[in-house]
Amino acid sequence: MSELNLILLGPPGAGKGTQAERIKVDFKLVHISTGDMLRAQVAQSTELGSKAKEYMDRGELVPDGVIIGMITERIAEPDASDGFMLDGFPRTETQADALREALDASGREISAVVLVEVPDEEVVRRLAGRRVCVKNSAHIYHVEFDPPKREGVCDQDGARLVQRDDDHEDTVRRRLEVYHAQTAPLIDYYDDLDLLLRFDGLRPVEELHKRIRATLASVRMQQRL
Ligand SMILES: [Zn+2]
Repeated sequence: MSELNLILLGPPGAGKGTQAERIKVDFKLVHISTGDMLRAQVAQSTELGSKAKEYMDRGELVPDGVIIGMITERIAEPDASDGFMLDGFPRTETQADALREALDASGREISAVVLVEVPDEEVVRRLAGRRVCVKNSAHIYHVEFDPPKREGVCDQDGARLVQRDDDHEDTVRRRLEVYHAQTAPLIDYYDDLDLLLRFDGLRPVEELHKRIRATLASVRMQQRL
């Protein structure tokens, strides 16, 4: 077995998205993001999408059963047979168990769990300092790391810069609480299975990427032996 089946864990603002983009290319993996999949299913009004939308409209979490069904179907598709990278799943131990069973049933397994760690205070600093252009959400600044020439004004089109609701400090802190409550048990779960790989998310993007890539390359080599 030489397929690399990965799970990505880390708090919001850890730079997971950037690393995922790179690792996906390095190892030719299918990137499976639960959030993206749910949004696509809802947009396409599939049966699963309408079911999920009912819960989301009520402000509830989409139940494990729905998510598990969606992911197990996805990883069974041909393009995921050479390896995948899960992002946003599993979120609970029930989901982690279900994933193991589904993989077991087809003679597959998780190769490694990549955890990008960043201290809470750094997450708050990164996210709460972010400002977005009201005209174009791709115009993103940071009050400390990448400030605009004129405070509160977009360099590219002169539009106003605002802080997204999600980026307000108290919201970020609440998101972090949820993250820790959800993820701590999963960290133990995968650590017990000897699958957990920890990376320091404070390192520069390039260096972090090199470390993750080198570690995963050796995981894959060991799998081939
Ligand atoms: Zn702008």
